[in-house]
Amino acid sequence: MEIACLDLEGVLIPEIWINVAEKTGIKELLATTRDIPDYDVLMRQRLDILAANDLTIHDVQQVIDTLTPLDGAKEFLDWLKSEFQVVILSDTFYEFAKPLMRQLDYPTLFCHKLGLDEDGTITDYHLRMADQKREAVKRFHEINFKVIASGDSYNDTTMLTEADRGILYCPPQNVIDEFPQFPVATDYEVLKAEFLKARAEI
Ligand SMILES: [Mg+2]
Repeated sequence: MEIACLDLEGVLIPEIWINVAEKTGIKELLATTRDIPDYDVLMRQRLDILAANDLTIHDVQQVIDTLTPLDGAKEFLDWLKSEFQVVILSDTFYEFAKPLMRQLDYPTLFCHKLGLDEDGTITDYHLRMADQKREAVKRFHEINFKVIASGDSYNDTTMLTEADRGILYCPPQNVIDEFPQFPVATDYEVLKAEFLKARAEI
């Protein structure tokens, strides 16, 4: 049996921080792992910007409540669950992801937690562990699963490398250029075909 490991933002749902930036008008929040590969540098910058603008978790959740999964994402995920055991490996936070998980029928999600004070100010973030996407794939291998992984960005590339097969989904050109070893899918039909092809090869 194979496990399909999927990234979340950029694969099934829109980029949360970009939407928060657009809806709050705070341009500095537009940076993502596509722009700043060092996740800690990126997160510290985001928390500083939220604090400087007096934005709490409640403000951020109001924006997230208006988001929906990407077109076709729910149908793609339903298909993937019918063919593979699916685990979503994301560098987002449970506090952010929950409304969107409801719209996807609560798939299994491994991600991180925020540190909040009683007014909802986001004081910190807690990674469950460093490089969790790659570590999860390693653990699945140790319990004798094959893994096919897909993601769109820098923070997925260690997961894609560790997996038996990795597939880039709608990545930016710089990731395609730096990681030419991975096939690229640009819509869900192609991604389905790449998952089936990968399974036949491993
Ligand atoms: Mg992503």
